[in-house]
Amino acid sequence: MRAAAGRWGGLLVVLLAGAAASAREEQPVARPELLVLWSDPEQRVGPAVKHQLYKETAALFASWGVTIRSSEGLDSEGLDHVRVVLLERSRLGEGSGLVLGETHVTPLEHPAVWILVPNVREVVERRGEVASSPVLGRALARVAAHEILHTLGLGHAAQGLMRPGLGTSDLTSPRVRVSDGFERRVLEALEPRVRQGAVGRP
Ligand SMILES: [Zn+2]
Repeated sequence: MRAAAGRWGGLLVVLLAGAAASAREEQPVARPELLVLWSDPEQRVGPAVKHQLYKETAALFASWGVTIRSSEGLDSEGLDHVRVVLLERSRLGEGSGLVLGETHVTPLEHPAVWILVPNVREVVERRGEVASSPVLGRALARVAAHEILHTLGLGHAAQGLMRPGLGTSDLTSPRVRVSDGFERRVLEALEPRVRQGAVGRP
């Protein structure tokens, strides 16, 4: 009984692999995908905030032609491209100033982004209103996108989302400003990954 189940299991894997390969061949121009693992080790960020955070991050990248695939957890065994860690603290080491996020690209295969949630909340609430879940989720998504773009090799800009010190309106206004040609630069930054994914195709 056990041996039979094992044989069927093996057959199923082969069939699924074949189906996936033919589906890929039908899409000659694939949108680049970015696998993001979201980690909330302290479990202090509420589900409504996270829902908005994932949705807004995906919408931002979609506007530049990139599909974000999100998963949650502490470890994806290296299957993610970028890990975003939500931290409930306001300081990192001896750094001065209000740090919203930080990017670690070592080791390069598994870059990590840290977001300091209380600092993001503080910037959002500078105008005197308590941040609602959707507003905080949006602000976290802006910081996450800024830092994820750093992991892809994009640097700072004078204005807009890649400004070094994001302010309240950068984090909360309905529109996100980016520099001219931004979409092209994002896609170029992702190109090595797209090429990697294409290895073995005719
Ligand atoms: Zn930055």
